[in-house]
Amino acid sequence: MRTISHFINGQSVTRPGALTSPVYDPSTGQVQALLEHGDAAILGEAVAAAKAAQPAWAAIDPLHRARVIFRFKALIEEHRQELIYLMSSEHGKLLGDSNGELQRGLDVVEFMCGVPHLQKGEFTQGAGPGVNVYSIREPLGVVAGIPPFNFPGMIPLWMLTPAIAVGNAFILKPSERVPSAALRIVELAHEAGVPPGIVNVVQGVQEVGEAIGDHPDIKAVTFIGSTAVAKSVYARGAGNGKRVLCLGGAKNHGVILPDADLDSAVVDILAGAFGSAGERCMAMPVIVPVGKETAEAVRERLLEEIPKLRIGVSTDPNAQMGPVVTPENKKKIESYIQLAVDEGAELVIDGRGRSLPGHEEGFFLWPTLIDHATQSMQSYQDEIFGPTLQIVRAETFEEALSYPNVHHQGNAVTVFTRSGDWAQRFVAGVEVGMVGVNFPLPTPVGYYSHGGWKNSAFGDLNQYGEDSIRFFTRTKNVTQRWPHGGPATEL
Ligand code: NAD
Repeated sequence: MRTISHFINGQSVTRPGALTSPVYDPSTGQVQALLEHGDAAILGEAVAAAKAAQPAWAAIDPLHRARVIFRFKALIEEHRQELIYLMSSEHGKLLGDSNGELQRGLDVVEFMCGVPHLQKGEFTQGAGPGVNVYSIREPLGVVAGIPPFNFPGMIPLWMLTPAIAVGNAFILKPSERVPSAALRIVELAHEAGVPPGIVNVVQGVQEVGEAIGDHPDIKAVTFIGSTAVAKSVYARGAGNGKRVLCLGGAKNHGVILPDADLDSAVVDILAGAFGSAGERCMAMPVIVPVGKETAEAVRERLLEEIPKLRIGVSTDPNAQMGPVVTPENKKKIESYIQLAVDEGAELVIDGRGRSLPGHEEGFFLWPTLIDHATQSMQSYQDEIFGPTLQIVRAETFEEALSYPNVHHQGNAVTVFTRSGDWAQRFVAGVEVGMVGVNFPLPTPVGYYSHGGWKNSAFGDLNQYGEDSIRFFTRTKNVTQRWPHGGPATEL
């Protein structure tokens, strides 16, 4: 069986006898490789290599670092097919979804090609008599990133590219469920000219994540994953004096006003709820139709459309949804469906208990539709992270707005309406970090930045965009005055 291991100081590193865990192909349900787990000692080796390599990398002028990032971008594009097959084979998402994901990662790489401009400081001449003030944005040193399973290529790119572009050295701990694409991306970074030691991969689980939070030479940690882990990574890293940015879970609502274009809204809702089997932080697992008439009309259309969705293996070009990532994830989603039933919601379409002919062992679930969910239900409050769609009914605009506002997660939300006035009221009143107007999955483009509110994010700033330049640098402010020695002729 193939073993996936670490990449430190420009080379593959393996420790015979280390603990391992299975990496599945969710479409077949088979174990396709074993992941070697690192520990604090291996992390220590990676940090030592990173610390030794970082000063020389930081000393390279920014235009030359940008040229390396340009080559990195070109190499990822050249290896696009290889990468999207790797991503889909471990995650289970369709190749088209992996392709879209990789592109969103590439958008950030492309933006970071502008690092010479982005990293420029500020300058004020004449801040006092003969006084000039300027600021410098210096890299932090060694920094680390811990991505989740659900974007095996995009999120490692969001994290590592800005970190190294500004002159840091980086330690990546990929998700244990999808480690291969991240590893391949790091190899490509080396091919592009990133020196050994500047990007290192330490594989593993919680133990490595915790060691990252504790290591005194790691100056900043960026994390994306579930809220519970985000909170603990934030507390641990911040408690150890690090700069920490942790994005957590989500429960994104789609609010449907009575004047919405239902034909297009339903297409968006299906994509939002069931795309990538609902395993997206930007998924739309809850809709809030306003008024009984809207609720009935939406429900009727969903009842027509959901059974037409085609489920298939990740390489099936005609499929609209693939399997979920592991048997444990599948079980967890099924138990939430049962919880919704037990709590009194109406199970309109049950996606459990079916298997894909020829792939009976794959981790497949069919789309599930639940109506009459309410605020008091745990199954509404929690993130299910699977192909489930809950309907919460509201009587008025104000009531509908209160659902995302009261919910403890605040990642993303979408309003469907034809009215600019109502849309603006919604945007102004909603307490959520990323807002779509007739637009599902409102992930901001690569030159803005991505992050939620409330329990969906801990720490300041967002991922990528100019925020990531700020996160991965520290500002030195210089106030300078030169003695005035008289006319130049005296020199
Ligand atoms: P997870 O929290 O289980 O794991 C995330 C990462 O943390 C993994 O690499 C894991 O190995 C590591 N980890 C686990 N325990 C740790 C610990 N104690 N200390 C340090 N690291 C630890 O999340 P997941 O299941 O991989 O990903 C799904 C979650 O990520 C969902 O909740 C989803 O909403 C969220 N997510 C959020 C965003 C966002 O932008 N807010 C984006 C993508 C995914």
